Amino acid sequence: MSQDFEYKKPSLTELNSLMTMAIQQSFNAIVITDASFEKEGPNIIFCNPAFCKMTGYSENELIGQSPRILQGHDTDPAVIHELKRCLIEGKFFHNNTINYRKDKTAYHVEWNISPIKNEFGKITHFVSVQRDISEKNENLKYQTMLIATINTTPDTIVITDDQAKIQFINHATETLSGYTFADLKDEPITKLYPSNQQLIEIRKIKKQKVENTCDAEDKNDHSEKHFLDLISSPLKDHNGKITHYVSIGRNINHHIQLKSQLEEWANYDSLTNIFNRRYGERLLDTLQKDMCAEDNSCCVLLADIDYFKTINDSYGHALGDAVLQQVINELSKNLRSRDTLIRWGGDEILIVLSDIKLVLALKMAERLRTVIASCAFPVVQKVTMSFGVVAWKRKELKKSVLHRADEQLYISKRNGRNCISPKFPP
Ligand code: GH3
Ligand code: MG
Repeated sequence: MSQDFEYKKPSLTELNSLMTMAIQQSFNAIVITDASFEKEGPNIIFCNPAFCKMTGYSENELIGQSPRILQGHDTDPAVIHELKRCLIEGKFFHNNTINYRKDKTAYHVEWNISPIKNEFGKITHFVSVQRDISEKNENLKYQTMLIATINTTPDTIVITDDQAKIQFINHATETLSGYTFADLKDEPITKLYPSNQQLIEIRKIKKQKVENTCDAEDKNDHSEKHFLDLISSPLKDHNGKITHYVSIGRNINHHIQLKSQLEEWANYDSLTNIFNRRYGERLLDTLQKDMCAEDNSCCVLLADIDYFKTINDSYGHALGDAVLQQVINELSKNLRSRDTLIRWGGDEILIVLSDIKLVLALKMAERLRTVIASCAFPVVQKVTMSFGVVAWKRKELKKSVLHRADEQLYISKRNGRNCISPKFPP
């Protein structure tokens, strides 16, 4: 007790009047019933103004009634059953359910009931303190709905504190990463997203228990990978201070797959599976720039199947396709990894040989010619090719290189086909 406080014990009359005022003015609804269980009992013998306000009934309408008049369609029978059991056993009761006002509107009530015993220990009354928690319940429902929404979205949602330590992850994050929230709570976000870029590659951690070891531990097996488009925003308090960061990641695996599919369609020839002319043109543009540098050397071969039209005409287009595929296959087997094979159009193949001088390029062209000419082709038996070879001159435009290669190819055709031009050895 404080030293400045001078305690004056209230008289019983003063205490009674204080208690009466406290109950009358209490924020909580208070109702007292007798302890009779006959008929509709127990019966209300007292209620305070807050109880009348909560239920919509006047004091006169409530006195003598059973609290049962407040129950209705959505009142939980299990809760009422528990209440009855507590009353009969003289135990303290605390729970919540739906009750109904006089105008039949529902409200969510949270209430407790304590038995009041006389000097002989016999229960004579019950006192109940009640509170309308409809608003709190609405907020709870709202929160539950928001959490359900956050957990339903396929986007990953991660909330960190201002130090980028993880405070929340949604279900999509757990599913995609293989981590549970418990694994990541208070861990730095870099554990989940190793880089800080907008396009994140997240690898699913597959946990496996390592059997047959004394120390059964989790083994991380990086197996599946996902791509996320990540957007992070700060959350601020009312003073504008950053308290959290929320990162939302959209799974763009599908877009990445589609992109690579489109790139494949855009750059590859579907019949032969080598680069198409579109890709070749872009490669030559790049080379045009590179060939300005003094120490770069590059040669271009233009190759064309001899009398391909006759193969088509004699054996059909399907066999022509098969011949073309076999020719490409043979050529690619005999090129270096840094060389590029491009279907330039029809039966015309462009080969870019990088880091090579003309003499060696001619040697390679001659070898390719021999390989094709000595290869056994089904049905048609023999197929030959003609080649035009040029060295890309410093600062030469691609148009000029292609023109010169085409001229050399034309010379090979004119010289009777199945040959290279210029001749090797030069
Ligand atoms: P040359 O020795 O002068 O090259 O004679 P060629 O018969 O090969 O004539 P050219 O190269 O001018 O003609 C190429 C032919 O290739 C024309 C076309 O019918 C055929 N062709 C082009 N694309 C395809 C294809 O995808 N499949 C098949 N089967 N044939 C094609
Ligand atoms: Mg041809």
